[in-house]
This record gives sequence, C-alpha cells and structure tokens, in this order.
Amino acid sequence: MKFAIRDDDVNYHFSEQLLSDCLDGVSDICPVTLSVVPWYKGDWKKNLELLESVGSAGITDEVIKQIKLDKDIYHIDRNHGLMEYLTHEIKVGRIAIAQHGIYHQNDDLVIPRFSKNFGVGAEFYTDRDLSKELATSNQYLNDLFAGRVCFFTPPQNLLSEQGLDALYVNGLNVCGYLPSAKNYGLFSKYFSTVSFLKVFKHQLFNRKTKRPYPYAIKFGKGHFIEHVSLQPSSSLNEIKDAIDFVFKKRGDFVLSTHTYAFGQKMTGSNETMKDTVINILNYVRDRYEVNFVTMNEILR
Ligand SMILES: [Zn+2]
Repeated sequence: MKFAIRDDDVNYHFSEQLLSDCLDGVSDICPVTLSVVPWYKGDWKKNLELLESVGSAGITDEVIKQIKLDKDIYHIDRNHGLMEYLTHEIKVGRIAIAQHGIYHQNDDLVIPRFSKNFGVGAEFYTDRDLSKELATSNQYLNDLFAGRVCFFTPPQNLLSEQGLDALYVNGLNVCGYLPSAKNYGLFSKYFSTVSFLKVFKHQLFNRKTKRPYPYAIKFGKGHFIEHVSLQPSSSLNEIKDAIDFVFKKRGDFVLSTHTYAFGQKMTGSNETMKDTVINILNYVRDRYEVNFVTMNEILR
C-alpha cells in the first residue's frame, strides 16, 4: 500500500518556523504534500480566527462582508523565508507541492451556505468558469516549483459542476471527495461506466463509514483519488478502519491534515493532532508493508 499525506492551506501568510516545527518528526517518516494557495486573497490568519470563532452555523452576511473587505492578493513567492524553506525541503525529499485553490475565496454573487462548512472559502463550489485562472495559477506554481505541481485539492473539499469542469479541462489530478454516483448524469460526465459501477457499489456499502474509494480513477487526462481527513473531532478508530479497508483492497491511502492546527488537542483527548498523525503513521508502519510517498508518487 502506498500512503501519502496531503496538507492544505500553506500560503504567503505562513511562517517557515511554524511549518518546520509542525512537520518536524512527521515529514521524515512520510513526505508531506503541501497543497499551497498560490494567490491568497485577504489576511489568512484574521479570516481563520473569525471563521473559527463564529463556526459554520454563525456565518452571517456581516461575517462574509468582513472577509471580503480585504481584497489584497498575496503571492506565495513574495514570502522569501517560506520559499527558501520549501525549496530546501523539496530538495531533501521531505515535502512536495500541490495546488489548493487560486485565491481560496468564493467570488460568486451569492455565496453558497452549508450547515457544516464555510462556503466563503469554497472557491470551486462555484457557478463561475475558473478554467483560465486555474491554468494561469497552475503555470505560476509550476514555474516556482520546477514543473511538478499536477495535483489539485479543492478548498473546503467542495466541488460544483463548474468547479469540476475547470479541473477536468486543465487535466489536473484531484484529491477530494468523489461526487455521488447516484447522480449518474453528473458522475458519467467525468468518469467511465466501469468506474461508475465500482464507485456506486462502494458508496452504497460504505455509507456510514469514513472508508474512501480505495483506488485512483481516471478523470480526463488526470486521476481522481479520495482521502480521509483528520480534524480535531475525528475518530481515530474510524481512520484506522479506513486504513485497514484500503489495505485489504490493495489500494492506496491519502490522509489529509492541516499542519497549522497540529498543536490543537484532539476532542476529548490529551493528544495533539500532531501526536495523532504520528500515531497513525506508526499504526500503518507496524501492521502493513507500506510505502510512504508524495501524492504524485501515488499515481506511479
Ligand atoms: Zn483550505
């Protein structure tokens, strides 16, 4: 089994010290694929604090207005300390780079609302055509990181049909949640009939679990792979069950995390998120023959 870590949100506002402290002890076991925001719009830290303080149920027009107030664009390469750190870590094989949105902000006229997610960050849950800006921003990242940025992870893990279209025409690999195969019209627009039958069966039998579809499937010129997300509220047992499942199916596993929250305690536990990531890596290493790889390497 190949095992990869996807880590979202690194952008201009990250300090290399924070990243280095968080990844220390993790990236030397498993390389971490940092999914970076090329041109973050606004003040990431301020936005994060605001969203976490109100929660998804507390999103009002006023909160959205606050976030939209700051229209400044922050290009990741203007943070020289961060870029130096990333370049060095790529060279020694501890990290790889993927793309996470363009600005990480939804610019639709009407911002989508969700009971358990933040629509204002869900840039690819959109009714706009993002294909051109996606192409330009992906080229920008490839120029910065030697042409190996071919995986995309959707902000807030949300994709609309227009969002999927943009990824499809750009030939990118995607790590996210597959659309429901129950919606045959949408599913068959992007995936083969064979994939439809297999994914439909998987979704039917694993509805109440965290088990991902265990293989990457063809998506246009690229591939689409699911992941299992680790949040402070996640159940470690459910994640272990998902790993056991993928191993039994001889598939490949992607764990998604947020390094900036590695210091947070898991709900109802004394362990931090970082302790839990290391715990999961040890669980896999002790039980299974595993190759810890970057996301790009999962497709080889
Ligand atoms: Zn994000």
